[in-house]
Amino acid sequence: MSEFDPGRFEEEAQEKWEHAFESNPSDLEKYYLNVAFPYPSGAMHVGHGRTYIVPDVVARFWRMRGKQVLYPMAFHVTGAPVIGISKRIARKDPKTIHLYRDLYKVPQNVLDEFVDPLTIVNHFAREYQRVMTACGLSIDWRRRFITIDPTYSRFIEWQWKHLYEAGHVIKGVHPVRYCTVDDNPVGDHDLLEGDKAEVIKFTLVMFRYGTAFIPTATLRPETIHGVTNLWASPDVTYVKALVDGKAWIISREAAEKLELQDHTVEIKEEISGSDLIDKTVSHPLCGEVPILPANFVDPDMASGMVMSVPAHAPFDYIALRDLQQQGKYTQIKPIPLIKVEGYGEVPAQDAVERAGITNQMDTRMEALTQEIYSAEFSKGKLFPEYGGKPVRVARDDVAALMNEKYDSVVMYEFDVRPVVCRCGNKVKVKILHDQWFLKYSDPEWKKEVSDHLQDMALVPPEVRVEFDRTVDWLKDWACTRRVGLGTRFPWDTTQLIEPLSDSTVYMAYYTIAHKIREIEPKYLTPEVFDYIFLGKKSPDLPERKKLDVMRQEFLYWYPYNFRFSAKDLISNHLTFQLFHHVTIFPKDKLPLGMVVFGMGLLNGAKMSSSKGNVFLLEDAVNEFGADTVRMFLMGSAEPWQDFDWRNELVISTKKQIERFYNTVIDAKDARGEPHDIDRWLVSRLQEHIERTTTALENFQTRQALQESSFGIEVDLKWYRRRLPEGCDGSRELATLCSVWTRLLAPFIPFTAEHLWHELAGEGLVSFAPWPVADRSLVNARIELAEELLSRTVEDIESIKKLIQLTPKSITISLAPEWKHEIFTTIARSTDRNTVIKEIMKDDAMKKRGREATDAAKQCTTLIHRLPPHIVGPLAQEPVNERLVFESAQAFLEKEFGVPVHITGAETSGHAKAAMALPFKPAIIIE
Ligand SMILES: [Zn+2]
Repeated sequence: MSEFDPGRFEEEAQEKWEHAFESNPSDLEKYYLNVAFPYPSGAMHVGHGRTYIVPDVVARFWRMRGKQVLYPMAFHVTGAPVIGISKRIARKDPKTIHLYRDLYKVPQNVLDEFVDPLTIVNHFAREYQRVMTACGLSIDWRRRFITIDPTYSRFIEWQWKHLYEAGHVIKGVHPVRYCTVDDNPVGDHDLLEGDKAEVIKFTLVMFRYGTAFIPTATLRPETIHGVTNLWASPDVTYVKALVDGKAWIISREAAEKLELQDHTVEIKEEISGSDLIDKTVSHPLCGEVPILPANFVDPDMASGMVMSVPAHAPFDYIALRDLQQQGKYTQIKPIPLIKVEGYGEVPAQDAVERAGITNQMDTRMEALTQEIYSAEFSKGKLFPEYGGKPVRVARDDVAALMNEKYDSVVMYEFDVRPVVCRCGNKVKVKILHDQWFLKYSDPEWKKEVSDHLQDMALVPPEVRVEFDRTVDWLKDWACTRRVGLGTRFPWDTTQLIEPLSDSTVYMAYYTIAHKIREIEPKYLTPEVFDYIFLGKKSPDLPERKKLDVMRQEFLYWYPYNFRFSAKDLISNHLTFQLFHHVTIFPKDKLPLGMVVFGMGLLNGAKMSSSKGNVFLLEDAVNEFGADTVRMFLMGSAEPWQDFDWRNELVISTKKQIERFYNTVIDAKDARGEPHDIDRWLVSRLQEHIERTTTALENFQTRQALQESSFGIEVDLKWYRRRLPEGCDGSRELATLCSVWTRLLAPFIPFTAEHLWHELAGEGLVSFAPWPVADRSLVNARIELAEELLSRTVEDIESIKKLIQLTPKSITISLAPEWKHEIFTTIARSTDRNTVIKEIMKDDAMKKRGREATDAAKQCTTLIHRLPPHIVGPLAQEPVNERLVFESAQAFLEKEFGVPVHITGAETSGHAKAAMALPFKPAIIIE
C-alpha cells in the first residue's frame, strides 16, 4: 500500500523533473513570467519562498493549460552590500558572524572564505538554486546567470548606450544619500533603516546671536513673522564653527553635514546648550526673541536648533504650554499670522485641543503637524499686515527674500530618521558634483511610461495609483557608484553601474542567456545586441546563425506576460524597468503585466534577517515538506495580502494534504454504479473546476485553494453521508480523483506527481491537461435540493444540542404554497422596501392579514441571510420540498436514529409548524 511519504515523493519527482522545465520556442502559445531576481547575500527565508512559489504556481497552471511556459531565474550580485559583509566578516564583527554562522547556518570552513565577496555571492547563489529546486520551482535553469558575468556586462553596456543616446544619462550636481564610511552614494538596497527616506530642501533662517548666527531649518519660512522663541536642548553640546568664514552656532552633527553640502566648516569651540537658554536672538522679520529649553530638539536634525511658531506648529504650541504650566515664560503668547478655513485664530491650539492631546510625546503629533501644514498650504492666507498673500505664494517669496537679504542658505535633510547604511553608519545628505544620473525627472520620459502603464495589466488593480504616483514623483537617480561589483560605466570607467540600474531589462536577456554564452564576450558589440533585440542589421556581425537563433528566441518570448515582485519595489525597481523598456524596445515588446505581493510576517511580526526574525525556507521544507510549505504560503493569503507564518497552522496544512492523499488512494479504484447523489457530486465538481480556473487566471491562489482543496473535501464528506447504507463510491469517484489531483498539482506538485503515477496518468502531471468543466453536467436543481437538505440537517443538529433530550421522533414541517409565493415575489423584486406593500394588494393575501405581513417580513430576513447562489435559482423556481425530504427520509432516519415525519405546516397541529418558511422548514423534535 502506498503510504503518505512526502520525502519520498520529493525524491521521486526531482528525478523526473531534472530537465522537464527547460522551455524552448514551439508552436504553442507562450506564457513568459519572471520574478525580481534575488541578491544572494544570505539564506532564503519563508518570505522569499512565497515570492518565488506564487509565480511557480502560475507557471504550472498555464503549463497544464497547454501554454509554452518560461520561468527563468538568475542572481543579482551587483553593488556594495556584499563587500561590506565580507569586510565585517574579515574584522570578525560579532553581529555579522552570528547572522551568518548561527542564523544562516554557514559552516565555519565556508564562512572563513567569506572574506572574499565573490565567495559569498557564489555560495548563496548555489544555495538559492538548491533550495528553490527543493521547493519544486519549475525553473529553466539553463538560463541562469549572475550579473557580473562578462557576457552580461556586454549586454548592460548595450542597454546603457541606448539610454545615453536617448539623452537620459546626465551629469550634474545633486544632493544624494551618502555613506561616509563606504564613501559611496547609498541606494535603497544598501539601507538597514529608513529605506523610504527622501531628501528634503530646507531654508536655514539665520538668527543673529551677538556676532554669530544661529541657523534654524524650516520648510515654512513665511512663518518667521510668528516666531516667539527658539528651542535649544540644554543637554546638547553645540559648537561655534566658521561656516564659509562666518561664525555659526550649530550641533556637531550639523557641522559634519554642512561640510558634505558644499560649505567649508571649521569648528572653533564648544558651547553648552544650557549656556544658550534664556539668551536672546534676533531676526529682521521677527525682532528679538529668547532661546528656550526643549528636550525634543534633536542635534541630528538639520542645524540642531529649532525656531518656534506656537500659533501654527503643534509641537511648538505644546512645548510652550508645558513650560507655561510650570509657571515659566508666561509672558509669551502665540502670534498667529495665517488665516485658514476650518480653524480658529490659533490653528495649532485648535488642532491640539480638538484631538485632546496633552503630551508632546503623543504619537498623533506628527499627523497633526502634517494636517495643519497641508491645510495652511492649500487654503491659508497671510494676515494683511504680513502682505495678505496665499501661503503657497508667500512661502517662496519669503525664502527668496531671506536668501537675498538675510543670509539664509539651503540645507538638505531627510524627511525621516534614522537613515542607516548596511554598514551601520548613519547616512547623510551629500551634494555630489560630476555625479551621473538617470534623468527620471524628465517629463517626456515620464509621459512615455505613464502612457504605457495605461495598457498594462496590474494586479491587484489598487497598485495602479501607486505606480502613477511613483512615475510622477521620481527624481533624478544617481546611477553610478565608486565601490562595488558590477559593470563599469562606459563614459567613466572609475565608476560602476549601481544595482537598481543594471537590473531593468534583464528579462529580455533571459530569452538568450543560455545561447549567448556560445559567443566570446569580446565579440558582443552593441551591434550584436541591436540585431538580436531590435532586428537592426549591420555589416560584419559575427556568428550570424547563432544570432538568428537568439533573435527567434527573443521574438518568441518577448514581451513578458507578467513580472512578479514585492510591493516595496514599486517605488523603484518595478517603475525603473518601465522607464528603461520604453526607451529601448519597440511598443510591441513592452511589458504586459505585473503582479505585486504583500509582505511576510512571522508570528505576527515583520520578517527581517537583520533582526533575526526569520524562519529559513530550507528548515521549513525539511520540517514540513515542500508541498506543505507551498500550500500554506498559497492558501493563507492572496499574493497581494500580507501573510503570517505560524507553525501550528502549517501543521494543519500538512494534515490536509495527507487527508487528500489518503482519499485519492482509497477512492481511485472505485468502479460502482452511480447513485442519485453522484449527479450532485459531479455537478459540484464542475463548479469547483470553473472557480479554481477563474481564480488562478486572476492569480488568486488562496481562492483557488479554497475551491480545489476545502471545497472538494467538504463535498466528499457530504457525498459519503448521503450514500445508501452499505454502498461505496461509484466510478464517478475515480474520475474525481483524477480531476482533483490535477487541480492541486500547481500547489502540491510532489504529492500530485506521485498520485498521478498511482492513477496511471499519462506522462507527468506537471504537463497533464488542466481539467475543463462540463457545463452540461451542472444541475442547479439537484444542488439546491441538497443544500436544503444539508441546511435542515444542520438545523436539526443544533436544535438537538439546545434541547438536550433524547428525541423519539422528528417532524419536518413544510411551508405552505402561499408562503412560497411571497418568497418568490420578494426574491425577484428589485425594490425590497415597497415589495411588501405590493404583496398585500393581492386579495388572498389581504384576507390573511397579519399572518401574511409577518411571513413577508420573515422571508425578507431569510433572503438577506441566504447567499446569492441560492436566492438566484429559488427566485426562478421554488424547490419541491416535499419530494426532497420524502426521498431523503431513509437518510434522515439513518442520521438521527429515530422516525422522521414530513408534513405540511397547515395540516400539522403543532404550534411551531407556523414558523415554516420556504427553504427553512419548521422542525419539531419530540
Ligand atoms: Zn555604509
